Amino acid sequence: MIQLSGIEKTFSGKRPGETLRVLAGIDLEIAQGEIFGIIGRSGAGKSTLLRTINLLERPTRGRVVVEGVDLTALDPRGLETARRSIGMVFQHFNLLSSRTVLGNVALPLELQGRRRQEILAEVMPLLELVGLADKRDAYPATLSGGQKQRVGIARGLASRPRVLLLDEVTSALDPETTRQILALLADINRRLGLTMVLITHEMAVIRALCDRVAVIEAGRIVEQGDVAELFTTPRHPVTRSFVEAEL
Ligand code: ATP
Ligand code: MG
Repeated sequence: MIQLSGIEKTFSGKRPGETLRVLAGIDLEIAQGEIFGIIGRSGAGKSTLLRTINLLERPTRGRVVVEGVDLTALDPRGLETARRSIGMVFQHFNLLSSRTVLGNVALPLELQGRRRQEILAEVMPLLELVGLADKRDAYPATLSGGQKQRVGIARGLASRPRVLLLDEVTSALDPETTRQILALLADINRRLGLTMVLITHEMAVIRALCDRVAVIEAGRIVEQGDVAELFTTPRHPVTRSFVEAEL
């Protein structure tokens, strides 16, 4: 379960004294095991919001509670430990080109100082799960986009998180590969029962995967609800524009 309350984020602007209010008071509750979508136009604040969930971005105001733990109240060591329960997957995969598939997925566990045998025992089932066990010794440059994203997903799952954050994870992929990755994510959600928060600017991705969705515009949630309901009766003009863009 994820609870965001009164989240605000400001950045200092280009001119002296100028502040940019990127998140302007976000309240959100995401249930255990749910796949929750966040949709919004470019610059709306989606990535910033997602990054506040694991405190990669520390909110200027407000509280972030994940699995009952108030992350905003933790010291750096406590935060480092708590972050292990939150995995993240990126649009451009962010793989290390000098490491094999296995080496990339193992990295978060190596950083925790885990032993080699233990790491292998954790990582191999994940490579099976994403269908890449036979590619364990391959380097990222030799993989397709879809395969790279499978590595990114396996790495996001390496520390057995209870929450997986997904930032535009299909935006760099063609439609068929997108379908395969979305099916994989649905399968992972069913098997592992983890909570997923997915950001996108495509309604089709929300429709294919999410239970509920929030629409964000200029740092505020302007509408949220069940995906099916939002599609049939969009109320806010921004929501309507997303629904119409998809049809
Ligand atoms: P996109 O769909 O293009 O990825 P987004 O909805 O993810 O957009 P964000 O990346 O959250 O948008 O950015 C929201 C706003 O905050 C933008 O105006 C951006 O320029 C600004 N912003 C983000 N990070 C910073 C930063 N570190 N310093 C200053 N401004 C920032
Ligand atoms: Mg973004």
